[in-house]
Amino acid sequence: MPLNQTSRRTFLQHCGMLATANLLTPTLLYSNSWNSLTQANEKIMTVQGPISPQAMGICLVHEHILSRFGVDPLEPGAYSGEEAIQEVTPYLQYIKELGGQTIVDCTAAYFGRDAALLKQLSQASGVHIITNTGYYGAANDRYVPDFVQKESADQIARRWITEFEKGIAGTGIKPGFIKSGVDSGPLSSTDRKLIQAAALTHAATGLTIAVHTANNATAAKEQLAILKTAGISPQAWIWVHAHDVADIKELLTAASQGAWISLDGIKTFHYSNGKKQGSQTLEKHLSYLQALTKAGFLEQVLLSHDGSSFPVGGADSKRPFDTLFTTFIPMMKAAGFTEAQIRQLTVINPAKAFTLIVRKV
Ligand SMILES: [Zn+2]
Repeated sequence: MPLNQTSRRTFLQHCGMLATANLLTPTLLYSNSWNSLTQANEKIMTVQGPISPQAMGICLVHEHILSRFGVDPLEPGAYSGEEAIQEVTPYLQYIKELGGQTIVDCTAAYFGRDAALLKQLSQASGVHIITNTGYYGAANDRYVPDFVQKESADQIARRWITEFEKGIAGTGIKPGFIKSGVDSGPLSSTDRKLIQAAALTHAATGLTIAVHTANNATAAKEQLAILKTAGISPQAWIWVHAHDVADIKELLTAASQGAWISLDGIKTFHYSNGKKQGSQTLEKHLSYLQALTKAGFLEQVLLSHDGSSFPVGGADSKRPFDTLFTTFIPMMKAAGFTEAQIRQLTVINPAKAFTLIVRKV
């Protein structure tokens, strides 16, 4: 959905967001409440190279700038680069104008990851973009490459560590986190192996592990147990799509162990059988956020949209990345969240979550 400068501005004025963006950006950038993020050697890895955590700004921790969701696996994703740049760059610029400075692209290898194209988009838009290593074990292993069945967790981890050390497929572009996913029910042998590989990769690189776990508290517990066995802290692990959980108690349990809780499906609509439907997700997100805050876990919550800006299905399948700015932050303010708390959630928590650091038990 390309927007030119004038229509972006009109849209922002319409939403009353110019004031919010202007209000948020400078404070967020120059906050002095970084607590543990003070070591000069701490870094976040973007597709254009390392940046300091303080340079990250407002970060959307779970989006899909590029994705081949719903179609056959391919690595790297085959896109018309020119079309992607023409179509996605104005959208990223619009997100930047709203205040978003960093976007974490959660499209895994074989699922449509294209590190070189992400780098071009980052250069064209001025938005920091973070890509990933790892394989997505959800969707019944559709996007898990065949060699995973034959290889050990060690061998898989070696592939991911090599991407971090040498760059992805000759591009020199390094991943900034590990992305994986698990299917419903107890962990399958494949999913277990992927989590073991993620633990080994984390120990070698300090890359944080983000796992599509959704409403699968059993799998969450099993993953944390695998990490513990490997000597890795729950602080290295993000419960992706945690808002899908039916019982908030499961999130409080994981948070009490140190896990990151990603409420990343912020949207005002969703698609069901190809049709656009309204969604109650904003109220659910807010109530989960309030419960986590009340229990003392505000500093472990991450917010994002799980948006999709260049889907295979074209314009009708797009999912926006802007609802946090246009709708959810105003909802949080109306519910009594302070500027400092919003800064914590949108700037400091993502910076801490994606800082390259080995988190041991
Ligand atoms: Zn996603």
